[in-house]
Amino acid sequence: MKIGFIGLGNMGGGMAANLVKAGHSVNAFDLSPEANARARDAGCSIAADAAVAVAGADAVVTMLPAGTHVRSVYAQSVFGMAAKGTLLLDCSTIDVASAKAVAADAETAGLVMVDAPVSGGIAAANAGTLTFMVGGSTEAFARAEVVLAAMGKAIIHAGGAGAGQAAKICNNMLLGASMVATAEAFVLAQKLGLDAQTFFDISSKASGQCWSMTSYCPVPGPVPTAPSNRDYEGGFAAALMLKDLKLAVEAAQSVGASVPMGAQAEALYQMFTGLGGAPKDFSAVIKLLDGSWRG
Ligand code: NAD
Repeated sequence: MKIGFIGLGNMGGGMAANLVKAGHSVNAFDLSPEANARARDAGCSIAADAAVAVAGADAVVTMLPAGTHVRSVYAQSVFGMAAKGTLLLDCSTIDVASAKAVAADAETAGLVMVDAPVSGGIAAANAGTLTFMVGGSTEAFARAEVVLAAMGKAIIHAGGAGAGQAAKICNNMLLGASMVATAEAFVLAQKLGLDAQTFFDISSKASGQCWSMTSYCPVPGPVPTAPSNRDYEGGFAAALMLKDLKLAVEAAQSVGASVPMGAQAEALYQMFTGLGGAPKDFSAVIKLLDGSWRG
């Protein structure tokens, strides 16, 4: 297929490269010359601007920072340029309201759109092992699956327009709250005289077990691959967790849902990023809780 790809950053760069590896012809664009150069090295052709990347494409993939970028790129460069029936896939993590608004505009323009945010970080984007949560019609999902298969290992239809974003922010709200709870438990266990490894051995096999503990244990040692063993470098940045928690709390307010744990996690990550924790893996929030964070 001929694919237009806009947004070649940490995630989009690897995703575009995997589309090329799968045999697609990718015409790509990013505002950053460095990102364009990396994509060219990976086999993409580089368009002069976003609209040129869209012209003549069978499908368009976007991987942009936030809802405001997605709204403006689609309004300025996609809707006037894409041929009727073109498949549009926005893989960015954005607010549900923007996802629904852009999908409605796409429909009006005779285009077929899905929101398809991802789970999995930069390593999964490079390896082509992302999980996609897809919002859109059954027909749109069937067409999107063909494109997404080159970039992911799991592709799940979440429901209609915006449902992919809803699934993503609900999942990440749960992840943020569970990380804070896991970190609290380890801090308390240690203050009560329990060895961290011993507490892990017990709780990881008991009812407190969760992904934040067994995959990203905030204390170094029990899970050797966790970012806590590398001074919380790599992994999922606290700044991105804060972004997703803000989206979740905003969405909750818009529909009158009560999310006290999500709101508390948002407040803690707000404090942590304000104290210089933004680039660290989100499990580093344990250092805020145990008082050892020095910025
Ligand atoms: P990034 O900042 O590295 O990349 C975004 C890219 O978009 C940048 O290269 C930027 O130059 C480009 N861009 C911005 N406006 C543009 C425009 N008008 N035209 C063309 N290019 C434009 O961000 P990222 O880490 O790649 O994340 C992208 C999205 O994926 C975000 O929504 C993020 O929340 C989500 N996400 C990221 C991760 C992660 O681990 N990094 C994981 C899951 C989801």
